[in-house]
Amino acid sequence: MTLLHIGIDDTDSLIGGCTTYIGARLVHRLEKETKAKFIDYPNLIRLNPNIPYKTRGNGAVCLRINIEENMIEDVENIVIEEVEENSDLKCEETHPGIVFFKGNVPPELKKFAKKAVTDVIMLDEALKIVNKTGAKIKTYKKGRGIIGALAAIGNTLEKDHTYELLSYRSPEHWGTPRTIDEDSVYLMDKLTNPETFNNIDKETKRILITPHGPDPVLYGIRGETPEIVKLASKIVVSYEPIERWVIYRTNQGTDEHLTKLRKIKEIKLYQPAKTLVKIIEPPKIIPGGHVIVKAADNTATIDLAAYEPTGNFRKIIQKLIPGDTIIAYGGVKPQENKPLTLNLEKIEILNLAPKIIYKNPKCSKCGKRMKSAGKNQGYRCKKCKTHAKNIEKEKIQIPREIKPGIYLPTPRAHRHLTKPLQRYGREKKNKPKKLIEKWHYP
Ligand SMILES: [Zn+2]
Repeated sequence: MTLLHIGIDDTDSLIGGCTTYIGARLVHRLEKETKAKFIDYPNLIRLNPNIPYKTRGNGAVCLRINIEENMIEDVENIVIEEVEENSDLKCEETHPGIVFFKGNVPPELKKFAKKAVTDVIMLDEALKIVNKTGAKIKTYKKGRGIIGALAAIGNTLEKDHTYELLSYRSPEHWGTPRTIDEDSVYLMDKLTNPETFNNIDKETKRILITPHGPDPVLYGIRGETPEIVKLASKIVVSYEPIERWVIYRTNQGTDEHLTKLRKIKEIKLYQPAKTLVKIIEPPKIIPGGHVIVKAADNTATIDLAAYEPTGNFRKIIQKLIPGDTIIAYGGVKPQENKPLTLNLEKIEILNLAPKIIYKNPKCSKCGKRMKSAGKNQGYRCKKCKTHAKNIEKEKIQIPREIKPGIYLPTPRAHRHLTKPLQRYGREKKNKPKKLIEKWHYP
């Protein structure tokens, strides 16, 4: 038997298609037609969410199988057939890539995968890795998809990971409204959360497991184990047929993109950033309801932005004051004529500055608060007419309305990679030793 990794990316467009759907179709066909033995759940690897040319979710897929040597050609032909039939090749921005790689994943491929989550990779860099590792590729149009396809092979999810059960609609339903029983989703959330996550947006009660576009996904349930996402899917009632479903193992909800603590000066465009800063100006609300606050470290200053879609997260940002120390997490995109702006994904408040207000001093005789007697004239008591010259304003420390800790936007504004609050402390250290019995249909 030969170990074969199959990476696929950039098959979808803004209006349709879905690389995970191709993965789900391949799981069934490869098992049935080539006797492939899956050594892992199919992997869904989310890449750097800040890169400029990404398609909707910027997710690539990898299938890892053991296969008889004489079946490899059949496997390759089936993969190529499925990608060609299910890719949106007409879309200008879709440039599919397939990578086949035999044997254990080498260190340089793992390193490449790490970079694909935390940085920007150009096509020529991917082609160099292809040459160096002897990977076999098939590209369409510009073939940019091989970057994600290689990265998906290289990201073996050795440590923290989560699962997503994706179910798909029959083609005749694509493009029509999804008919899922909403109450069943609330019930599923009640019974399985926190072992499942991001089912519902708490602020708006909006259901998040169903996408709204014309793609084939009916719903996706994210969770900590394959067992729980499968159980959760049994609670959800669908009024339309489910053509197929599959459980993916993924880096979603792991913060894999937010690793390095960087100085502001080191933050580069399109990179995910994590930076330790001090707030230097009071927050401002700008048109559109966005909240901007200026921060600095010893290298530079930066604007931190909590945009309108982040919901009540903006209220936390508004409560920051100069002197507060936080770790800011987010991505930087270019904006014309604007200072460097970090689009906040989350913050960790490390230290809160004391909030001080100054009040006029109290009268030493009657205790009433005094009035200013004019510039440099001291204070006068209105009640007993006492006049005090060498007396200062009273410094009063008022309680802060926020506490140190981690704050995230509402789930509807999360990136796929963003680790939800409930996952803190649930991080996994190993990959699963074996697969559950039934992890896909058909
Ligand atoms: Zn008085």
